[in-house]
Amino acid sequence: MATIIFDFDDTLFDTKKLKKETFDQLASYGIDKKIIEKTYKECRGNYCFSKHTQIIKNKHDLKIPDGVNNWLLNINLESYLFPGVVETLKKLSKKHNLILLTKGEPEFQNIKIKGSKISKHFKEIHITSEAKEIFLKNKKFMPPIYFINDKKSENKIIKKIFPKMIIKEKMENNI
Ligand SMILES: [Mg+2]
Repeated sequence: MATIIFDFDDTLFDTKKLKKETFDQLASYGIDKKIIEKTYKECRGNYCFSKHTQIIKNKHDLKIPDGVNNWLLNINLESYLFPGVVETLKKLSKKHNLILLTKGEPEFQNIKIKGSKISKHFKEIHITSEAKEIFLKNKKFMPPIYFINDKKSENKIIKKIFPKMIIKEKMENNI
């Protein structure tokens, strides 16, 4: 039995696609694309859709419908999971301990995780505001430990600190 730690954004879930559709949704209210991009950058690293719409409303005095944040709650977030994710998680969770580790703004991360309905496959779910290696340093998981994460820069650091960890950029179903 292994411990398999999964990143969420762009590893299991097509966050780039959601970003594009979020921008299209905001543009459909008549908001200039440059303003959408600029205000997005202002909340980057700690992005939250409701914070993004709030910044647009406050700073740019633009009219967005009151129920705008319901848009995210009402779309089918399961459809943003990459192909094969559900089947692979189902299969791996029978044999291994699956951990979800995501860095970001808790409200937004929770909406995406709950909406994509994958929580049931994980033994633990962690949303951290710290760098992933800091979180991992403070946690003890049973070896062997696999870490599945799309971000090369993070993986480089993690490999240095945890040389025994088996790191993959993409999910495989034959662990
Ligand atoms: Mg990622």
